[in-house]
Amino acid sequence: MNETEHGTRPDSPHAYRHFETLAIHAGQPADAQTGAVVTPIYQVSTYKQDGVGGLRGGYEYSRSANPTRSALEESLAALESGRRGLAFASGLAAEDCLLRTLLKPGDHVVIPNDAYGGTFRLFAKVVERWGVRWSVADTSDPRAVREALRPETRVLWVETPSNPLLGISDIEALAGVAREAGVRLVVDNTFASPYLQQPLQLGADVVVHSTTKYMGGHSDVVGGALVTSDAGLGEELAYHQNAMGAVAGPFDAWLVMRGAKTLAVRMDRHCENATRVAEMLAGHPKVSQVYYPGLAEHPGHEVAAKQMKAFGGMVSFRVRGGEEAAVAVCDRAELFTLGESLGGVESLIEHPGRMTHASAAGSPLEVPADLVRVSVGIEAADDLLADLRQALG
Ligand code: PLP
Repeated sequence: MNETEHGTRPDSPHAYRHFETLAIHAGQPADAQTGAVVTPIYQVSTYKQDGVGGLRGGYEYSRSANPTRSALEESLAALESGRRGLAFASGLAAEDCLLRTLLKPGDHVVIPNDAYGGTFRLFAKVVERWGVRWSVADTSDPRAVREALRPETRVLWVETPSNPLLGISDIEALAGVAREAGVRLVVDNTFASPYLQQPLQLGADVVVHSTTKYMGGHSDVVGGALVTSDAGLGEELAYHQNAMGAVAGPFDAWLVMRGAKTLAVRMDRHCENATRVAEMLAGHPKVSQVYYPGLAEHPGHEVAAKQMKAFGGMVSFRVRGGEEAAVAVCDRAELFTLGESLGGVESLIEHPGRMTHASAAGSPLEVPADLVRVSVGIEAADDLLADLRQALG
């Protein structure tokens, strides 16, 4: 995707169309009452009515709508080139709302063979109990996806790049497969962020985010989002968001909005640093395999180059010596903090098999035991390389 296609929003309702400008201004005009240049935190649950039903500015009760959350939701819609954005208490709360809006007992969902362990758990341990069936497909292969579809399939769920194996799925090709079959294509865009990848422009029906990650960007908030270009579906999702109630609180919404303003500059640095890390690991004798879509030998490199502006800040690798060796690398790292999550300014390291993806053990989504995942932060690349070298021993 070239700079112009990616950077502008031809149908933007805003006077400005470039991502970096939208990130700072969309949904966030100066406060009408005070001129405050930053959207205030409306830490409030209810609103005075001028006579019964006389709402000022449409606000009635903060589960239904809150001005700080509304600002974030407008910003999210603009950043994903969608029409409706909705902000939730976590990424999984957003996913739950989406699934309970789109599915009913007897329906079937195709899920990827690599995905966040918590997403897998939601399908396998929660949604399944309500009579929704799922099966797994290699979403990097559109033919395999077509074969996995059933007459009762309603949703095709994709993560690209995927967590933790950095698999790449061709969004445009899968949108074609989904459209032919009358199935909704959902793309979890958490790893790429809307700065690097625009799934709705490539034909996806809904984008999912854990805003906890790159959108927030500072490891100080848990949040989630849904964005769609389908106005009718947007209404249905908003209805369920209110009916189910797992909304983002005003302070959390404000933190995500503040983080998103610097997404573009942070992401450029994440990508540069991750490329350095991936290249170093690829030449390291203790590493048997590196997963980073920016490497020419990655099987999804060409598709990633087509649909992403750059290749992201996440890198996974396998350590010679098996699980114990991989765990030891995590334990020895110093600058890379050992911890779950990703997408913050600080670098993190983890062992997916025992940490983020423990819930996928014994399933088709089980991850290799010798796998280490790093979220490459925006520190000086030389310091990051030195720490990984000493951790590898
Ligand atoms: N999607 C992906 C790709 C994730 O990595 C995560 C969390 O790690 C989620 C969704 C769930 O988000 P949250 O932890 O905000 O509920």
